[in-house]
Amino acid sequence: MPRAEMQVRQGLAAAGGIAVGRAVCMVTRAVEIYRFPIADGELDAEVERLREAVRRTEQEIRRTQSGVVEELGQELAEIFDAHVLMLADQAFVERIVGRIRSEHANAEWVVHRTTEELIERFNQLDDPRMRERAEDLRDVGRYLLRMLQGIAHHELAELDEDVIIVADDLTPSDAVRLGRQRVIGLAVESGGRTSHTTIIAHSLNIPLVTGLKGVVDTVTDEDPVIVDGESGEFILHPTPEALADYSSRRDALRSREADLLATCSLPARSLDGVEITLQANIDLPEEIDQAATFGAQGVGLYRSEFLYIEMSPRLPTEEDHMNIYRQLAEACAPLPAIIRTYDLGGRKLAREVMDTREENPVLGLRGIRLTLARPGVFRTQLRGLFRASVYGEIWVMLPLVSTLDEVRKFRAFAASVMSELEAEGKPFRRDLKIGVMIEVPSAAVIADLLAREVDFFSIGTNDLIQYSMAVDRNNEEVTDLYQPLHPALLRMLRFCTSSAREAGIPIGVCGEMAADARFVPLLLGLGIRRLSMSPRAVPHIKALIRGLRVDELQALALECVNLPTAAEVESRLRHYLDGVTA
Ligand code: PEP
Ligand code: MG
Repeated sequence: MPRAEMQVRQGLAAAGGIAVGRAVCMVTRAVEIYRFPIADGELDAEVERLREAVRRTEQEIRRTQSGVVEELGQELAEIFDAHVLMLADQAFVERIVGRIRSEHANAEWVVHRTTEELIERFNQLDDPRMRERAEDLRDVGRYLLRMLQGIAHHELAELDEDVIIVADDLTPSDAVRLGRQRVIGLAVESGGRTSHTTIIAHSLNIPLVTGLKGVVDTVTDEDPVIVDGESGEFILHPTPEALADYSSRRDALRSREADLLATCSLPARSLDGVEITLQANIDLPEEIDQAATFGAQGVGLYRSEFLYIEMSPRLPTEEDHMNIYRQLAEACAPLPAIIRTYDLGGRKLAREVMDTREENPVLGLRGIRLTLARPGVFRTQLRGLFRASVYGEIWVMLPLVSTLDEVRKFRAFAASVMSELEAEGKPFRRDLKIGVMIEVPSAAVIADLLAREVDFFSIGTNDLIQYSMAVDRNNEEVTDLYQPLHPALLRMLRFCTSSAREAGIPIGVCGEMAADARFVPLLLGLGIRRLSMSPRAVPHIKALIRGLRVDELQALALECVNLPTAAEVESRLRHYLDGVTA
């Protein structure tokens, strides 16, 4: 058989490293539904397949629901009642059974058609309750189809060799689940450089290329492929020469990593003696040990929502919270472990705690807004967090703050939780530092006012860029406008730094800019002295800082802030770095 021709696709280099291996394709978005004829003799079996799917779907929904009842109370759990009721509704199930028999069609097709038709009918009624019912029906239809099609991903649990996943779309939880198996590379159609899936790929050290439109249609399982997370290339059917070339590049990268690791216990001190604190961003528990291995000084951002995502559909209990925060505090002591309260909502699923459906979730009930809107739910987290505070130096960080009122309301909420613990005789520290993420332009612009009422700032550049530029950080179509060096952003960073300095509070950066060698000189020049990043990035950034002079960077930053476009800033920085590394 002639060898298939090599194809090279250019995507976005999202997470570094090179992977060479065989493909496994995954389609996670809407699955195509086909109609198959079912012969007379197979009709009973097809109906039984449907009934089994209905039973198992119901069990799955009930399992999710019981976790919700325990943690959040009956009221929220009732959302699932509608789904269970629909599945138990004999008229609905029998309608599907009847059509399988009369149309001699496969269960998937009939479920799809029946739900679509009913949804359309409900939507035509001018009654908001009916439209809600249509939404429930849509969910139930999806559950059933996934069950019928066996999209439970169990096939990947059986992987016995290293593979590269080629997918249309991956949620952060898909990435966690896959990354812990024998997955060595990811090639995905959607997703930007700072999407949460990308952040997980960094955490798990898996090369990732995104923005490869239509890639799942061109690759088949077992095809030889290469993912180059450094250049953003995806290669299908590499020639023997390309295989050898990429394999040797991959090995060179690995040996450079090993060399860097050997120097990672050195201080992050610039040539002119300025000490920079490099902290770890932690998403997954396994990174707690990595933080020390790679030479990080404490934790600058623990994304606590990953605890929720990992345990879903079970909700973390107070003890779960307390255990993980205690582990973090003890691993960092006496240095701080900065724990961010749940940043749920937006794209980070919060089905179990949200009882609303939002048209525009990224601008909706997310982060601190959700915490304040559903205090009952978040009390569990805060109780665990405060109780863990006696084991080290925990700082509490609030996500997505956009007004001073949110900080004040949070303080009142925290005080009520503390009084509760006090009344129960549970030990905790009252002097916890409470700080905010600066990741919404309104917060950046009032940094001087915020600085008077909080204990520290941490700049979340991922969202700050998204919200300042009005570009979705997950959308590969608008990556050109996702400009970390836009003058608007530099001005905000400068203002936040000077406001923090005047108020005498610490300020750091914990967005992906902090881990990017192209931007670090500018951040230091702007006055940032704390950078928090994925543990694996620490040795690289440390090596870079050890070759820089901060006094020169201050002048460089001053120059950059006055340049009119991101492209000009970028070229100025590149020119400077070329001079340093030459
Ligand atoms: C950020 O927005 O920069 C940030 C660090 O938070 P996240 O990436 O979790 O939104
Ligand atoms: Mg953010």
